[in-house]
Amino acid sequence: MSGFPAIAPGPGGGCDDASVLRERGQREVFCGLTGIVWLHRKIQDAFFLVVGSRTCAHLLQSAAGVMIFAEPRFATAILQERDLAGLADCNEELDRLVEQLLARRPDIRTLFLVGSCPSEVIKLDLATAAERLTREQQGRVRVLSYSGSGIETTFTQGEDQCLSALVSEMPQTNAEAASLLIVGTLADVVEDQFRRIFAAMGVTDVHFLPARTAADLPPVGPGVHLLLAQPFVGDTARALVRKGAKLIQAPYPLGVEGTLGWLRAAADVFGVTDEQFRLATEAPAARARRALERYRPVLEGRRISFLPDSQLEIPLARFLAEECGVIPVEVGTPYLDRQVLAGELPRLGADVRLSEGQDVDLQLDRLRQDAPDLTVCGLGLANPLEAEGLRTKWSIELVFSPIHGFEQAADLAELFARPLVRNEKLAV
Ligand code: SF4
Repeated sequence: MSGFPAIAPGPGGGCDDASVLRERGQREVFCGLTGIVWLHRKIQDAFFLVVGSRTCAHLLQSAAGVMIFAEPRFATAILQERDLAGLADCNEELDRLVEQLLARRPDIRTLFLVGSCPSEVIKLDLATAAERLTREQQGRVRVLSYSGSGIETTFTQGEDQCLSALVSEMPQTNAEAASLLIVGTLADVVEDQFRRIFAAMGVTDVHFLPARTAADLPPVGPGVHLLLAQPFVGDTARALVRKGAKLIQAPYPLGVEGTLGWLRAAADVFGVTDEQFRLATEAPAARARRALERYRPVLEGRRISFLPDSQLEIPLARFLAEECGVIPVEVGTPYLDRQVLAGELPRLGADVRLSEGQDVDLQLDRLRQDAPDLTVCGLGLANPLEAEGLRTKWSIELVFSPIHGFEQAADLAELFARPLVRNEKLAV
């Protein structure tokens, strides 16, 4: 990535380019298909059709296994040997499948064709297929495409790719009146909480991307101010900025201080007075601080390492250090997007080892040497590390759980406290 502004080391030492450990070896990270698990729940009129292999289908089935009781809004069109050998016309097959799907599911208003490693290897042009299918649907269904392939994307990058595809469909507005666009999937309950707080501050023209229905796309233009709710939507943010929107620099709304900083950054842009801000945030912040206190005795002084996985690692480490007294040892991130982390990086302590990318064997060597009290990592590494006596937390849980905002601050701390408490109980 290029063109990002350099950031100065922060008061706590922060991080500069030279202090980042860059690794480009073997990675142990989910691919971007995983994002479908939370995106299909959030966008209620969308369907995700992965054009992939049985491996892709298995990944989705196991990651979203709970869906067996409902009619799911995702599926995999499995590429067979004949497709891979170029003996079948994949476009004809795809058209036939999409026709069948849309005839059976008239509730679908937006269909995402999701690329995978196999579809990329055989160079199946899903963007052109999406255009063709949209034309054929004559306005009934919007067909879009993006890549969730493990060659191009890691875990949460799938959401960034999906939202970037939606940006091209957003209506352009030249209205000068300021509006707020919150970018990145939030649980509905969290979205409602934030909407209430913004309303209490007098900020009422608030939109979310993704919205609960893909048909309900928010407008974009020079009056739109972007507030990122997730640190993995950098490409989407840049696509929106190219359409005239302005990016608000802020920390992420994780923990009480993160949420206050996030709300404050938006409040400053919208001219909210100190008194209005205090009235809107004082009670929920105080409630959240009280709830958080419960977990401080368990977490204070514990050493934690993050292996690169969800891209949430840096804001989570900041929250744990500032609000729970945890000591981050190594904070790994799949890629370091300085533009969207400018509100977070200066708050990471100077002693924290920040790593970008992965060379899994080297990283595991460092981890064994550091022997932290808790390691946040992907599912594949957690069991072997537990067997070695290290306590772990699955990073995927932090993506699937509602963790943003005041009301969730204590729940977030509890997610880290739980494995430590369990360990102590087992030791007793
Ligand atoms: Fe595996 Fe690639 Fe399919 Fe992801 S997209 S499940 S990495 S084959």
